[in-house]
Amino acid sequence: MELACLDLEGVLIPEIWIGLSERTGIDELRATTRDIPDYDVLMKQRLALLEKHKLGIKDIQAVIDNMSPLEGAREFVDWLNENFQVIILSDTFYEFAKPLMRQLGYPTLFCHRLGIDDQGNIKDYFLRQVDPKRESIKAFHQLNYRCIAAGDSYNDTTMLAEADAGILFRAPNNVIEEFPQFPAVNSYEELKAEFIKASERAL
Ligand SMILES: [Mg+2]
Repeated sequence: MELACLDLEGVLIPEIWIGLSERTGIDELRATTRDIPDYDVLMKQRLALLEKHKLGIKDIQAVIDNMSPLEGAREFVDWLNENFQVIILSDTFYEFAKPLMRQLGYPTLFCHRLGIDDQGNIKDYFLRQVDPKRESIKAFHQLNYRCIAAGDSYNDTTMLAEADAGILFRAPNNVIEEFPQFPAVNSYEELKAEFIKASERAL
């Protein structure tokens, strides 16, 4: 049995925090782990910015509702679903991803969650576990599933290494150079071809 494990942001949908920054005009929301390497410091800054600009979960979901998956993403997920069981392994939050998952036909999503109060203010965030993408692949192996994984950045590389086959999709050059063991592709057609190559079955 084979699973297709996909990163979400950068592979199927645009980066959510960048989209939020563009649509709200709050420039500081663009910051990523490249600017602030400590994820906890980065998330606390993001939550403080949302509070300062009085943006609750409903406002943010309305903004995210106007975002769309990347062009061709839905068709790619549909193709994957016909040939594999698809699981999205993401570092986003359920409350953010929901409107976009609808547009992707609700594939199974494993990610994190937010702490939201009765007024809809985002007060905190809860990571499901440490190194969740890799731990998920390990758990699927325990269940005797073979895993083919694809992702676009550093936070995917432990997942790609743990999987039976790992593929980089639209990754920045520094990641491609640092991880030459993974094939790197840029279009969904090429990504399909890599999944077919990595599969042990005749697709
Ligand atoms: Mg990504």
